[in-house]
Amino acid sequence: MEAAAQFFVESPDVVYGPEAIEAQYEYRTTRVSREGGVLKVHPTSTRFTFRTARQVPRLGVMLVGWGGNNGSTLTAAVLANRLRLSWPTRSGRKEANYYGSLTQAGTVSLGLDAEGQEVFVPFSALLPMVAPNDLVFDGWDISSLNLAEAMRRAKVLDWGLQEQLWPHMEALRPRPSVYIPEFIAANQSARADNLIPGSRAQQLEQIRRDIRDFRSSAGLDKVIVLWTANTERFCEVIPGLNDTAENLLRTIELGLEVSPSTLFAVASILEGCAFLNGSPQNTLVPGALELAWQRRVFVGGDDFKSGQTKVKSVLVDFLIGSGLKTMSIVSYNHLGNNDGENLSAPLQFRSKEVSKSNVVDDMVQSNPVLYTPGEEPDHCVVIKYVPYVGDSKRALDEYTSELMLGGTNTLVLHNTCEDSLLAAPIMLDLALLTELCQRVSFCTDVDPEPQTFHPVLSLLSFLFKAPLVPPGSPVVNALFRQRSCIENILRACVGLPPQNHMLLEHKME
Ligand code: NAD
Repeated sequence: MEAAAQFFVESPDVVYGPEAIEAQYEYRTTRVSREGGVLKVHPTSTRFTFRTARQVPRLGVMLVGWGGNNGSTLTAAVLANRLRLSWPTRSGRKEANYYGSLTQAGTVSLGLDAEGQEVFVPFSALLPMVAPNDLVFDGWDISSLNLAEAMRRAKVLDWGLQEQLWPHMEALRPRPSVYIPEFIAANQSARADNLIPGSRAQQLEQIRRDIRDFRSSAGLDKVIVLWTANTERFCEVIPGLNDTAENLLRTIELGLEVSPSTLFAVASILEGCAFLNGSPQNTLVPGALELAWQRRVFVGGDDFKSGQTKVKSVLVDFLIGSGLKTMSIVSYNHLGNNDGENLSAPLQFRSKEVSKSNVVDDMVQSNPVLYTPGEEPDHCVVIKYVPYVGDSKRALDEYTSELMLGGTNTLVLHNTCEDSLLAAPIMLDLALLTELCQRVSFCTDVDPEPQTFHPVLSLLSFLFKAPLVPPGSPVVNALFRQRSCIENILRACVGLPPQNHMLLEHKME
């Protein structure tokens, strides 16, 4: 594969203008109706015009929880790549890379060449995207450690890499943040030495000032805010408190109950910055979603889909997709990082348990041959804090499925890896794809008024454990359906048909 391959689509339907790529695209799908017990399927076709602005902005990313394992690891990864660092390890010299990032290390097939072989390009070559090495970071943390010290505390990176990064990370210092003790575990209180004082309304204003300050002092065109701070407990959705945008803003004004993460979401939306939630709690309460909709600002969530859940959303798709009836899924995790310590408290564990538990729903519901309505596999999730293993999280899963004629199949998986090295590339993809989506607009033959994607950016589902979707939209958890969604929408933006894997060219005489 040509590494940084550039390509052009030669078609009368695709125009590469100086400012934008414009593509005419035929969206072919189906509508199904039920008539007296018979399903009638109607093929439909809608003509879309996609327009993608070509100018890539100078993008800033603000991380809430910047000094945590994920925040410090992502910052280190971008610096290590920008500086082209390499370092010795006991298994040889390692070089900085972006493994684990869909956009940077994933590829897409453009089609067959003259020899009938597939031609692949990096995902990032599909459309103009911000280069990760050009990202500028800033953020907040309730802990005042600078990023070099935070990297050392995280114990994720090899020492030789840490030493080289130290002088570049030392000057990076998280801004003070909002600490409301009842939302995170009591065991986090010792870290909280870097706080924004004042009322909720004053704290909201300070966060907004921080975003504006970062934007102007770093000379940025755009800022995206990403929550990678500790998992909070769920907050109750209460009519009058946080159910509408107006009520949520009044709640903040009056100093009533609001979680820190919701406060950050509201501040970002009011500043016109996309907000992404990498933790499981219900930050994006109905009032925050309404505010995003009113202001036409993208929001995405919830909870990075990194290890165990990612495997689950492949494995159960494989099992049910091949006609096996999965009846029991049991997942144990143990980890020893600060996230694990926070999750050892019952209310914070509960947020994670909920976020991990719905991940196979769409696959079960897709197969009425195997499952009667309402029937679902037993699904149990256990998380334990074991300090010794640090960021090297262990996940043990057992899947039991029914085979034909009364047989059973039990699969057992053991997965070990550095949690933050899985999460950091996902955070990168979230920022890059969200920014790209901000440059895409479209109209259709039935509605010529240009529009952008719905503010609840469900295209990001591949990257989230419990994907947020617009009201009424199906939630897709199956990983390769999620990946196809991103790939095919980006292909549509350059006038390419969806990837169909039919390879009919090779099935003819
Ligand atoms: P971490 O505990 O190392 O980092 C979280 C940071 O957030 C800490 O530095 C803490 O001081 C800070 N913090 C807490 N409350 C804050 C607030 N109100 N404002 C600003 N900062 C605050 O955890 P981590 O391993 O980096 O994970 C971060 C989050 O990502 C967790 O909620 C975790 O559940 C979620 N997550 C992680 C993964 C993964 O693979 N690493 C996957 C999915 C989700």
